[in-house]
Amino acid sequence: VTQAHLDRIAQVDDLVHAFLHVDAEGALAAAKAVDEAPEPVSPLAGVPLALKDVLTTKGIPTTCGSRTLEGWIPPYDATVTRKLREAGVPILGKTNMDEFAMGSSTENSAFGPTHNPWDHARIPGGSGGGSSASVAAFEAPLAIGTDTGGSIRQPGAVTGTVGVKPTYGGVSRYGLVAFSSSLDQAGPCARTVLDAALLHEVVAGHDPMDSTSIDAPVPPVVAAAREGLRGDLAGVKVGVVTEFSGEGYQGGVLRSFEGAVAQLRELGAEVVEVSCPSFVYALPAYYLIAPSECSSNLARFDAMRYGLRVADDGEHSAEEVMSLTREAGFGPEVKRRIMLGTYALSSGYYDAYYGSAQKVRTLITRDFDTAFEKVDVLVSPTTPTTAFKIGERVDDPMAMYLSDICSIPANLAGNAAMSVPSGLSDEDGLPVGLQIMAPALADDRLYRVGAAYE
Ligand code: GLN
Repeated sequence: VTQAHLDRIAQVDDLVHAFLHVDAEGALAAAKAVDEAPEPVSPLAGVPLALKDVLTTKGIPTTCGSRTLEGWIPPYDATVTRKLREAGVPILGKTNMDEFAMGSSTENSAFGPTHNPWDHARIPGGSGGGSSASVAAFEAPLAIGTDTGGSIRQPGAVTGTVGVKPTYGGVSRYGLVAFSSSLDQAGPCARTVLDAALLHEVVAGHDPMDSTSIDAPVPPVVAAAREGLRGDLAGVKVGVVTEFSGEGYQGGVLRSFEGAVAQLRELGAEVVEVSCPSFVYALPAYYLIAPSECSSNLARFDAMRYGLRVADDGEHSAEEVMSLTREAGFGPEVKRRIMLGTYALSSGYYDAYYGSAQKVRTLITRDFDTAFEKVDVLVSPTTPTTAFKIGERVDDPMAMYLSDICSIPANLAGNAAMSVPSGLSDEDGLPVGLQIMAPALADDRLYRVGAAYE
């Protein structure tokens, strides 16, 4: 199976460019160990996977899509990587991404964009475009992405695959190169909800190496997916978020969403409309909180400890080496975020920007709490539009940021959320995603509803 996927990668990745690094030798060795073991070590033993290049892999390059980390070989495995290896999952390679996971199209990768397998002229979403595209292009049956504001769900939606952002703290962040520590969460990309559940159970669970890891049992997501596959949602209450429609949403996306809601009703779910008035402030709050945390997290790339170092010629001071290296190593979007974040955190502005954004974050959490008193899950389109053309939004950061308008609230509140394929748009024939959101630690509800729907 691993060899077949390596062959497929060799065949199509010149067109898709989902991978930054393919580890054929390591993947085949892991597959061989599974073949030779007396018994499978997990339900996924021998099922190969593509790993987003933001998770550290001992002995295998980890670039985060940045020149800054080009050539860096981590000395340790992320907890997610370790769990995959222990479960006998061969790691095919590392997937392309927007630099340090900042973006919605994978065009911010320093190593060139990934192409959407449905239409090579279009983006595969981002930041985890490589992971979702590898699954959509049958280069890998499973992948791991990370989702800070939508980077698993939005690529899932636009490539017609399943993407899950687990509850914050449900999957360890140890070895996940930090973008925005209070939002980042790794999770599964797959072609079916049950596949995603099987992967979820392999990578989730408490980890003492991550101080924000939740010390609670992993929600029973595989059992929930199997329950959902029976196709009966009687007794399940679904809330349609009224804020996520209207201006900026394509007709094809909205019609697909209406169809999805009708189908949930046919499956027996009770559907009601729910208003979450603070969700309209999620995007501006996110674009203060995420850059603030990024400006602090990326300070570690100081030319001394990792990767790139320029002007190290004895003629420049240490400070000049740092500054010239950061100038050369970071792309324009990363620099924009560092500047925004540094400004928002600076004395005199901190309360007005960062402080206000944190208050909005609390209001969004309260909206979720109020909604989940009435319903079991909330639903919305995952993205306002289908995959746009490569190059279309690169010069317009606001248009790019709007791609995540529906996915960001779940990150700010720390909830669980999933994107499940919802057919093709009747406007352009491209994939559309249905977003399902559940309370923190109720990830199993996503899998039950998602599996019943898909
Ligand atoms: N597109 C959002 C951003 O650029 C989300 C990215 C992510 O989830 N990593 O910040």
